[in-house]
Amino acid sequence: MIENNFIKQLVLLGGGHANVQVLKKLSMNNIKGLNTILISEHFEATYSGMTPGYIHKDFSKDEISIDLQRLCFNADATFIKDKVIKLDTNRKEITLQNFPTINYDLLSINTGSISNTKKIKIENSSKYFFVKPISSLVKNLSYIDQIVKNKRSKIVIIGGGVASYELAFSLKRRYESPVDITIIGKKILKEKNLNKKTKNNLKKIANNLGISEYKGEVISLSEKNITLNDGNKIVCDLTLVSTGANIESWLFDSSLNKDERGFIRVDNNLLSINEKNIFVTGDASSIENISRPKSGVMAVRQGEILKENIFLKLTGKNLIKFKPQKNWLYLIGTYKNYALLNYFFLTFHGRWCWKLKVLIDKNFINKFKFSNNLPMAKRNFKLANFKNIKMYCQGCGSKVSKNTLINYIKKTSDNIYLRDSSIIYNKSLKILQTIDHIKLFSSLNPFDFGKISYLHSQNDILSAGGKVKSLSVSVGVPFSEKYVEKFYLEYFMEGIKFESDKDDCIISSGHSYQSQEPGITLTLNGEIENSVSKNSAKEGDLIYLSKPLGSGYLLAAYFNNSEMLSGNDFEKILDNLKKGNLFVVNSAKNSGSQTMTDISGFGLSSHLADVCLSSNLSSKIKLSSDILINSNIDLLRKFQSTGFKNNRQFSREYINISENHPFENILFDPQTNGPMLIAISKQNQKKFENCFSNETNIKPILIGRFINKLEKAIYVS
Ligand SMILES: Cc1cc2nc3c(=O)[nH]c(=O)nc-3n(C[C@H](O)[C@H](O)[C@H](O)COP(=O)(O)OP(=O)(O)OC[C@H]3O[C@@H](n4cnc5c(N)ncnc54)[C@H](O)[C@@H]3O)c2cc1C
Repeated sequence: MIENNFIKQLVLLGGGHANVQVLKKLSMNNIKGLNTILISEHFEATYSGMTPGYIHKDFSKDEISIDLQRLCFNADATFIKDKVIKLDTNRKEITLQNFPTINYDLLSINTGSISNTKKIKIENSSKYFFVKPISSLVKNLSYIDQIVKNKRSKIVIIGGGVASYELAFSLKRRYESPVDITIIGKKILKEKNLNKKTKNNLKKIANNLGISEYKGEVISLSEKNITLNDGNKIVCDLTLVSTGANIESWLFDSSLNKDERGFIRVDNNLLSINEKNIFVTGDASSIENISRPKSGVMAVRQGEILKENIFLKLTGKNLIKFKPQKNWLYLIGTYKNYALLNYFFLTFHGRWCWKLKVLIDKNFINKFKFSNNLPMAKRNFKLANFKNIKMYCQGCGSKVSKNTLINYIKKTSDNIYLRDSSIIYNKSLKILQTIDHIKLFSSLNPFDFGKISYLHSQNDILSAGGKVKSLSVSVGVPFSEKYVEKFYLEYFMEGIKFESDKDDCIISSGHSYQSQEPGITLTLNGEIENSVSKNSAKEGDLIYLSKPLGSGYLLAAYFNNSEMLSGNDFEKILDNLKKGNLFVVNSAKNSGSQTMTDISGFGLSSHLADVCLSSNLSSKIKLSSDILINSNIDLLRKFQSTGFKNNRQFSREYINISENHPFENILFDPQTNGPMLIAISKQNQKKFENCFSNETNIKPILIGRFINKLEKAIYVS
């Protein structure tokens, strides 16, 4: 019996302050029948309230960031890191910069705002950064550091709002070398909610810190100057644009109804005025007949209603109304461990205000951190039209619907008649053939998974000296309908095609089915191009790895919610998983190598021992953090993937290693699309290293050499 059949697709656009709360709710509750996807530009979302604190080094980047991949993992959602470039509300379709389009049944837009530069002429040579979206400011901080480093720099912040002041204070404290900061605004501190005393205090603090203010309108930016409409020019090395907000063009160009300033008009349920299956929150939205300044506080408050309304809408209940406050608590960081508090007519400036700010901010951000323990059991709800448990006879072999299949095939080929089999032309009677199956990692983009599956299988053909010519694929998508079925089928297939096209490989046959364990089975056929084997290593040959190791235990750590890994660390693991080995073969071939093997699920020790035993040799290797994707050795000690124990049991007897060697566990770590292990003769070392680096810009990793046969196959130092 199938307990969860996905019939509706909820798409969250942007990991803003409101959408993250929807995912948090989904991490504690499960809506049966619902497939959720988050699309956001970065792996991490930045919490605006703590950003000035990050700039003046009170908090680390991890402390102010929400790891979106992990949030999705805990919410049973899929994370797609990409930029939205078009929204077609008629077709309910979202176009992305890099990945295939995605359709939605229900959409929630929380993509924030961008700095408004409509009236400023910007010359190409000028050095400027936008402070909105706030994530881009954080990303660009290292470039700003480079400009400011080692010289007295002049920074201009355009915009006279409270954010400009807080930003100026934090920058002043960030740099040890002196910086001159000027705030230029058409209006200076005009926020209605700030009382007079607070405004005076902000100006006084700016004055104490040597920050200048200038009232005026900027009309152009050039390499060294800012020009104002009164004709004045101000010399500057760097400009930060903290002007009013605007929305991105893809959203502006959509059919969603906008207010006179160009923001998306929503009703008091936070639903678009003209599209009742689209919620819009945060800076991008404008609540009908209510005007409030754009702020993270407002986006957070809207998130509290949004997370309820999405649930209520999906479960067929009445929505609740968002009633925005007229005023709220402002806590603005000033000097080290000081903040300025503004609430209606009250103003305080002191250490306790900073303590209060930290308490409130940490309380919010900590909601999105998960402990090492696996998530608790979720409460179950079901979609309004979910027909309880669906009985699948499975007599059809749980096939994907013909409609979905034909629609996909139509996109990629003219031939919509499904063939039963294909003719494959081969130069020789010998063909290489391999089969692999991998299950989809929870929350991973299925396109990336398609790529990884192909590369993982391709390694078997490459390490036998072959080139992939054709493939047969069996794709297992989740039990689903319509948009959800389409999403998984297209993303899996397009990911596979992305890599297989590089081999000019034809897809000769395919099968698709629905499953409770989505995944991809690939059979690859290859032609032999080089004579490569495991048994031809020579004494003295050097042993290289084409890339670092560690995908097994690192994924185990990440999916066990280890705080030792951040969203950026996950991105590094993923980049490594998506790195193919096709180029390695050329470098090895050009350097006369005939010995190669791929490190797969059995781990380094098993594959190296295979080469040693079949070549009648032993090997001497040195393990260090150079061979790890992530250099934190505590992770290697603490986490093991499922296959580790079996690998260790099988291979331990072939190895001579000191007790408690800090890197021992890497020998048995199972790899998905792991590195190639290559034997290179000493005289070809330089040639190989140069050829490898020319192809990839990275160096191969030298781990040791083959030696005369001794008692053990592998000697580790
Ligand atoms: C220096 C500075 C300090 C500030 N300090 C505070 C403060 O202390 N308190 C406060 O309340 N407010 C503060 N603000 C205002 C605050 O930053 C914004 O109002 C708030 O971030 C808006 O939240 P949001 O949820 O709408 O969007 P955001 O927090 O900006 O989130 C939008 C998300 O969508 C993603 N995204 C955007 N476009 C796309 C796209 N096309 N495709 C995919 N993903 C996309 C972004 O990467 C981002 O993750 C500050 C602003 C600045 C500039």
